[in-house]
Amino acid sequence: MSSDGQEVRTSSAAQRLTIDGRAVRTRQRLHALVTLIVPFLGSGVALVGAFLHGFKAVEIALLVGMYAVTMMGVDVGYHRLFSHRSFKAHPLLRAMLAVFGSMAAQGPVIYWASNHRLHHARSDSEEDLHSPYLDERGQQRGVVSGLWHAHVGWMFGHAPANPIRLAKDLLRDTTLTRINQLYYLWVLIGLGVPTLIGGLVAGSVSGAVSGLLWGGLVRMFLVQHATFAGNSFCHVFGTRPFQTGDWSTNNLWLVIPTFGGAMHNTHHAFPSSAFVGFRWWHFDLGGGLIRGFERAGLASDVKVPPPEARHPWDGVEPRGEAGTSVG
Ligand SMILES: [Zn+2]
Ligand SMILES: [Zn+2]
Repeated sequence: MSSDGQEVRTSSAAQRLTIDGRAVRTRQRLHALVTLIVPFLGSGVALVGAFLHGFKAVEIALLVGMYAVTMMGVDVGYHRLFSHRSFKAHPLLRAMLAVFGSMAAQGPVIYWASNHRLHHARSDSEEDLHSPYLDERGQQRGVVSGLWHAHVGWMFGHAPANPIRLAKDLLRDTTLTRINQLYYLWVLIGLGVPTLIGGLVAGSVSGAVSGLLWGGLVRMFLVQHATFAGNSFCHVFGTRPFQTGDWSTNNLWLVIPTFGGAMHNTHHAFPSSAFVGFRWWHFDLGGGLIRGFERAGLASDVKVPPPEARHPWDGVEPRGEAGTSVG
């Protein structure tokens, strides 16, 4: 093959929306298997322990504290900052959000953001990684198999998004690519910190084990499934105040654990907005955190949707647009 021919092949591979290599798919499947099964089993052990011995205050504190830190990493960092560039963050905050998001064990930040950008660009079409409606050949899925695919099944079947096509800006960020490479270290630190605190507070090995279970594995299980509900439930059940061209929905019952992420129809209508809640009862915790960072001088260029487009509940004509540009 001539050098010219090689260039043509490389450039067309770079233009593809997904990476379709056996090694990449195997790695994605293995990662999904381990990071789904281990927290699931750990949560089962923790529940049996709680049934036999009751809860301790330190276990609840580690669960809530680690949940808040890692959900902030996913919702404010992975999602609103890195996937949608809805605000600019101080380099230290940017790095911290990438690390906290990594601790949630949903994949490295550039992998996650590339997948999510593809989801918005091709939402609920056969090219969407986790549409509950269509498979890769454009065939309709059943309700249960669609929900399963959108929630976790896609990680075992769908090829991951191509970051060279979808996340060039993130690949150019050398600090972020380093954090991306050290992904498994952050996952382990996310498990090690609550283990250490649990052990120190109780002064025993059993305290360390309960710290690992509640602040590590139960927390990981809950953050994962709250996030994945945005792909599954929030494209099937709920309300659609905005016309977005896809099937995204809002689910108020899920807004607190998702930090506002379950206002998913509003988010699909205004994907680059840093805010998804326009009423106090929308509990947009992620948006509140971004406001707080802005007041502390750690965030700037915070994007908001146009005021006339914010309140379809008030009878104002919705004017959401589906998807974002693939670039
Ligand atoms: Zn969506
Ligand atoms: Zn999004």
